[in-house]
Amino acid sequence: RLWARVFGDRLIYPLHAHTPSQLSDALQKLRRVAPTVEAVGLGSLAPLARYQPAKALRLIHYARARIDKHIHVFGAGNSLLAALVYTGLADTADTSSPLQDARYGLTRHPETLAMTLTAPRRAPGRPRAAPQEIAALCSCPACRASPNALAEWGRQGVLARTIHNAYQLLRILEDPEKILQLLLRRPQLARKLPQLHAMASRVS
Ligand SMILES: [Zn+2]
Repeated sequence: RLWARVFGDRLIYPLHAHTPSQLSDALQKLRRVAPTVEAVGLGSLAPLARYQPAKALRLIHYARARIDKHIHVFGAGNSLLAALVYTGLADTADTSSPLQDARYGLTRHPETLAMTLTAPRRAPGRPRAAPQEIAALCSCPACRASPNALAEWGRQGVLARTIHNAYQLLRILEDPEKILQLLLRRPQLARKLPQLHAMASRVS
């Protein structure tokens, strides 16, 4: 329903590329095959968004400079999504990260914005947090209903963490200071954004 509200009955033409030259080829095809399409969706970016978000951002920048249409980014993840809101390079984007993270037992800490482990699982190097600590800082429906669910496996636990993670992600995206805080956790990405870079050098 949300998708229909944003796009109505407009067609969205998917472009799959990992490099500027692939994108350039795909664009040439688009001009031949569907010159009047109003919206373009950049796909296959999820692995890049996760492991090389700065490269993904450069590619979207390349696309923005060449495409005079609505640009949607499929599978932007958390950090790249924040960078897109910050830079305004894309018109819309989607992410399944709140659910994917929840499946791994991860819950976003409302203060540090780190993905913390609340469900019992071994993950060396991953910060842990007690569900009660998280719930005390959050007023999402899951935290209000049952903080302990954040630590459970099974459907209930995944659902509670997904609701919490989505709620927290939305709070981040609505608050420029929180966007900066999140982006500064990814130095590789932050270096690509000039103002962030200035801020990062002052911090370090
Ligand atoms: Zn919550």
